[in-house]
This record gives sequence, structure tokens and C-alpha cells, in this order.
Amino acid sequence: MALVNEHFLKLPNNYLFADIAKRVNRFKTTHKGVDVISLGIGDVTQPLCPAVVMAMHKAADEMGDAHCFRGYGPEHGYDFLREAILKNDFLPRGIHLDINEVFINDGAKSDTGNIQELIRWDNSIGVTDPIYPVYLDSNAMIGRAGVKDEQGRWSNVEYIPCNAENGFVPSLPKHRVDVVYLCYPNNPTGTVITKAELRKWVNYALKNDTLIFYDAAYEAYIQDDSIPHSIYEIKGARKCAIEFHSYSKTAGFTGVRCGYTIVPKDLTAATISGERIPLNPLWNRRQCTKFNGTSYISQRAAEAIYTPQGKEQVKATINYYMQNAAKMLQTFKELGMEVYGGENAPYIWARTPKGIESWKFFEELLHGAHVVCTPGVGFGPNGEGYVRFTAFGSHERTEEALERIKQWMK
Ligand SMILES: *Cc1c(COP(=O)(O)O)cnc(C)c1O
Repeated sequence: MALVNEHFLKLPNNYLFADIAKRVNRFKTTHKGVDVISLGIGDVTQPLCPAVVMAMHKAADEMGDAHCFRGYGPEHGYDFLREAILKNDFLPRGIHLDINEVFINDGAKSDTGNIQELIRWDNSIGVTDPIYPVYLDSNAMIGRAGVKDEQGRWSNVEYIPCNAENGFVPSLPKHRVDVVYLCYPNNPTGTVITKAELRKWVNYALKNDTLIFYDAAYEAYIQDDSIPHSIYEIKGARKCAIEFHSYSKTAGFTGVRCGYTIVPKDLTAATISGERIPLNPLWNRRQCTKFNGTSYISQRAAEAIYTPQGKEQVKATINYYMQNAAKMLQTFKELGMEVYGGENAPYIWARTPKGIESWKFFEELLHGAHVVCTPGVGFGPNGEGYVRFTAFGSHERTEEALERIKQWMK
């Protein structure tokens, strides 16, 4: 008899966005012809920039030519892209990494989910709450998260609340944790972490022998020069942190699939007898076994982001989304709503009026304004009483949605 991994049965039945889609579809079938605008799911809408498209065409032509056709690439990615990453994303910030510390991935979701394979099943984990669901669900699948209670809390997880009451600044864990996940700029709250606050985390990690998994997927949206783009801007982080990057939100690669993970060579974890084991060779071993690399075409596409034209074009699209964010913030404030984020991230985190529940507000907004938001509670217990709006729409649709919300709120 093949026994199933019963840890899967502890997971909520639906992925949050599948649940939202189901409710929206139900609304659409009972309200035929009604035009619904989504400010919900975190997918981009603007096309790839010309520099990227050109690079993909060129790479496709190479693949069709016997002289430069490429089969399996290196599991950790091509050096042309790893070098471009070092030169553009890290050197200008004074961060010196070795090329073998860069692992090209097929998007950050895979690696943020897979990275927990490097640690024993009985490590304790901490997350800021609310949080991107992948971190906890991937730990739950192998039993590390424990069991879920009625409030949706996992028994073996230390939740670190981030809410209006603490200004979305996570305090250090009350109980020591072996591993902590941080995501900045944050999905879903759109808030950022200052260098001073991040330094506290690095120092905590060094002192307590805690591993930090740092998700920097929205780093390209940072507008304020004082906000760190990488945890390696903090001294000592090489000894305690793995960092994840993605081109999905940076350059509209949600359908192209490419990103990268940094595993520093100085980073170690202990065996039960106390021996220190470097994680970089372990991750390399894991990738060589379970991953056959990101497609050549996607990696050439990513390389093009770092050309002068690519940089300019990618920035223009980010500015486009950030204009949406600015308009949304302004409108919501005029309506007297309590809103956060949206200044260094494409997300706006809004407190629901009169403290009504996230899902209730979601339904009221859908029925009243025909606009879709994401219920905050879907991102964790501390998301209750909030909803997330994304700035990834077109200008026209975003403005239309704001106009409807204004009418509805009146
Ligand atoms: C979108 C997102 C990612 C990246 O997803 P990809 O797999 O690279 O498309 C990673 N982390 C967070 C928090 C995200 O919102």
C-alpha cells in the first residue's frame, strides 16, 4: 500500500487566489454583463519591454541554428547572466559576491518553497504575519509547520505580527527560532524595512544562530534611497542569510519565468553534533539533482534587463505602476480610508471600514463597486480586517475602479 504524505491534508483546500476566482466567477454568472475590475491578484498587465523581446527573438534564432543551438544548460545558470547580476544588482551597492553564490532559478516561488529542504524537519520557523503563503505552505507539506487551528495558525510557527498598531515593524521573535522568513518590500502590506531595523534582524540571527530567508522580489519598486535593496547591505548578513530575487515583478516575467537565489559561501548550519556545514555546496547539490536549469531564452531575456535600454524600459514600466499606486493612495485617503504601503511597493494595504471582516468587505466591494480586492486574512491571522489592492492594472482600468469605489463609498 502506498501511503500518502498526510501533511498535505492539513493544508487549506484552496490556494487563496483560486478561492477568490471562484467567488468572482459565481458573481459574474449571477450578474451577466457586469464589468468587473480586478485589483486583486498580484500579476502584472504591461507587456515585456522591447529590449527583452529583442533578446528573446535573438535567442530563439540561435536555438534554431545547429551552430549555436544549446541543450541542457548549467543547473545554476549561465555565467553571462550571473555576471550581469553581480555587476548590476550588487557591486553598485558595495556588495561583493562570488559568481558561484548566484543560482539562477525559474522564479522565486520555486526556490522560496524548495529552500527548506536544506534544513531538518524539526527546525522551528518564524514568519512575519501577514505573509506570502508559499513560505508556510511549503513547510507544512513536510510537517514542519505542525497542525492548523481554527484561526488558521500553525502550531509550530512563531507568528510575528505586522499591523497598524506596531507600524508594520516586526519585533524580534519572543521565542528563539531556527529559521525566519522576511519579505521586503512586503507582499501583502507594501511596507518596507529600514536599514536600522534590518540590522537588528541580522544581529539577532548571528547571535541566535538563526537562518534568514530574505525575499527581495519587490526590490525594484523601492523609491526611497535609504531603504535597503538587499540584506547583504547589512554587515554580517553573508553569514546568516539566503536571498531570493525574481524578474516577475521587476520586468513582467511572470510568464517568462526567471529569477535568482543567493547562497553565500560563508553561510553554514549545524549538524546535530555541532559540526558546521556550508549551505552553498548543499544547494548546488540539490539543484543539480532536482533542477535542470532555466531556459536559455529566459536567461537571455533576463540579461537584456541589464542593458542601458533594458534598464530604462523596465524603470518606465515600474514608474507606470507606481503612478497607479500614487493615485490609489490619494483616492483612498480622500475617502477617509486608513491605508499603508504603496510608496515603495506595488501594493496598498487598507484597513476595512468599521473593522468589518476581510471577506465581508471583499464581497461588499465586489457587489457594490464590481471591483476585486484580496482579503487580508488570506495572508495570515494578522491580515484580518485588512484588504490588499494591487497597482498592476492599466491606468485606465485602475482609474475606472477608483471612480467606482468613490461612488460606492458615498
Ligand atoms: C510574486 C512573488 C514572488 C515571485 O514569484 P515568481 O515565482 O518569481 O514569479 C516571490 N515572492 C513574493 C513575495 C511574491 O509576491
